[in-house]
Amino acid sequence: MTDTTTILAETRARIADAPDVEALRAIEREVVGKDGVVASLLKSIPGLPPEERKGAGQSANELKQAVLAAIEEREASLGSAALEAERRADGFDGTLPPPRVERGTLHPVTQVTRELEDLFTSMGYMVLDGPEVELDDYNFEKLNIPADHPARDTQDTFYCSSPGSSASLLLRTHTSPVQVRAMERLEPPFRAIVPGKVFRQETTDASHEHTFHQMEGLVIDRNVSVGHLIGAMKTLLRGIFKKEIEVRLRPGYFPFVEPGFELDARCPFCTDGCSVCKRTTWIELLPCGLVHPNVLKAGGLDPEEWGGFAFGLGLSRLVMLRYGIDDVRHLLGGDLRFLDQF
Ligand SMILES: [Zn+2]
Repeated sequence: MTDTTTILAETRARIADAPDVEALRAIEREVVGKDGVVASLLKSIPGLPPEERKGAGQSANELKQAVLAAIEEREASLGSAALEAERRADGFDGTLPPPRVERGTLHPVTQVTRELEDLFTSMGYMVLDGPEVELDDYNFEKLNIPADHPARDTQDTFYCSSPGSSASLLLRTHTSPVQVRAMERLEPPFRAIVPGKVFRQETTDASHEHTFHQMEGLVIDRNVSVGHLIGAMKTLLRGIFKKEIEVRLRPGYFPFVEPGFELDARCPFCTDGCSVCKRTTWIELLPCGLVHPNVLKAGGLDPEEWGGFAFGLGLSRLVMLRYGIDDVRHLLGGDLRFLDQF
């Protein structure tokens, strides 16, 4: 019988000469395979004198391990030689790490919108959508803002026309047109929110942008009071800031509500004044009020029977507050250095 030391020496020499991986596989089958040299060595053990059996088994196993290690080593060096040859041939470098796969995330505005949608649907609100290119009629007239109304000056926008039509079209300046569209289509009572993009003809700076996001809220029911409005707003703030937030109403004028209010929230970031609340401890959060009878009429509802409240949440502003973003232009700037942070 050939001793394992000789077999190992011979096998190693063949492995070192193997020209490719196929040749290595052949040697591997021949030596450590099912019917290979090691297997026949192990098979012969029972025929040996008892005192030799243990030693024979041990050396057969050592042979197997040593051959496998030599094959692995040769395979690695064949592999890097192949890569090296490839790199020289066509400039491709297979040793470089693969390009990083960029994983996208949801935009912060989308994240907050979805959170608010969950919150409001849990309170029985529907989520509605409306056209971004809107009729003047819905954006202004039906919201109690006639053509000569001064409120139009503060909501200058982009006007457009449609070929073959005399309809006066514009990019909507707020999500409020959907109030009337909802009243026209839905059977009262109902509750709805309308998240979406709005547009203004605006000189842009850190707090002004030509395109931003709002979320309209509308509740139509019998006997709706300011108390219902405050209750809904407190629930909203608790959902956003995850704690109880004190609110206050100041009289405010908006043509489509009567009475109208500015709702302020106690600054969630400080107790004695900070830069967010401009040292006042109050943050101006949203305009709101009870739906104006003229708007109810424009939506085909009888103001004697139906009432409601509405609010216009500045979604972009809320996202900025939530994440401490100091410039509204970051939101739609498309800069990955900004977006990567969410
Ligand atoms: Zn503050």
